[in-house]
Amino acid sequence: MLEPLRGWARELGFSQIGISGVDLSAAEPGLRAWLEAGFHGSMQYMAAHGMKRARPAELVPGTVSVIAARMDYLPPGTPDGWQRIEFERLGQPLQAGVSMYARGRDYHKVLRARLQKLADRLAAAVGPFGHRVFTDSAPVLEVELATRAGLGWRGRHTLTLARDAGSTFFLGEIYVDLALPHGEPAQAHCGGCSACLDACPTQAIVAPYRLDARRCISYLTIEHDGPIPVELRPLMGNRIYGCDDCQLACPWNKFAQRSPLPDFEVRAHFEAPTLLQLWGWSEAEFLSRTEGSPIRRIGHERWQRNLAVALGNALRAGLQEADEAAVRQALAARREAAGELVREHIDWALAQAGQALPALT
Ligand code: SF4
Ligand code: SF4
Repeated sequence: MLEPLRGWARELGFSQIGISGVDLSAAEPGLRAWLEAGFHGSMQYMAAHGMKRARPAELVPGTVSVIAARMDYLPPGTPDGWQRIEFERLGQPLQAGVSMYARGRDYHKVLRARLQKLADRLAAAVGPFGHRVFTDSAPVLEVELATRAGLGWRGRHTLTLARDAGSTFFLGEIYVDLALPHGEPAQAHCGGCSACLDACPTQAIVAPYRLDARRCISYLTIEHDGPIPVELRPLMGNRIYGCDDCQLACPWNKFAQRSPLPDFEVRAHFEAPTLLQLWGWSEAEFLSRTEGSPIRRIGHERWQRNLAVALGNALRAGLQEADEAAVRQALAARREAAGELVREHIDWALAQAGQALPALT
């Protein structure tokens, strides 16, 4: 059954699938320690499911196997040397840094629909069976399942890495009540490398395989809903939605694969946006221009909060006189109508010109 399953998965745009069992007890101490350290920050949903995350059969009773699937997301036209291009963008204070995975269609929709189609194809072949599909879902230990299914290993940055695909892919899972033959866990190939730890702007990877989400720019710009900690703001540079630095630095991403799906084509608004263009969007423009995009999920207030931080960092970096005046004017123009959260970030931003970068603690 595995070979036909692989063929259907490929037809649906998945690059690889594998099968994991459901005994993840070896991962429980690490998960418990991560939660006890508070590294999940304000993502209460992470703690809410407790050890159910490591116990698929408790989350979905009857589950005996998990089909883990990989879907590459680099946009089809991504040029060679894309890591250098991305690092250069991050070095230009007035450009907006948007994580590569988020520039096209919302992957939740793409993966969920295709995982369901894969389950339907399997059901057509073997008869009805119990199942549930997940992608990027809090109660699932995705990286652990992917590793056990043989899709890759857990890199020191905590993401899944594959020798033939780096880390630029999404993961999805189908919990099934079918006994399927399990794959062999993938071997780790990080060797003596520590490039991701060195590259992280906020030192969020506090030790190999240990991510303090509270310091991670992806968490701060997407998941976190309050004020961004003042000490971390200057370290965020122009990253306004997610962060790719640990992946850009990873040598395995020279093998990153382009997606065959048009869904992940870069949308026009995210080709090479500037901070001031995005800052100028009204809430109605934000909602219409991010329709069907994962970015829409954060809402206009967090979007503006993130942009205010990046504009403050642009002022801190030192701009030409005309650019500085334009940034100041744009920030001030929105201050009056802004809510408390955004206004506080605007005030912070306006105070950044001439400030030194703080030392990391
Ligand atoms: S996403 Fe960015 S901030 Fe988060 S761990 Fe990677 S490099 Fe650090
Ligand atoms: S940068 Fe190096 S240590 Fe980090 S995940 Fe990649 S290979 Fe592993």
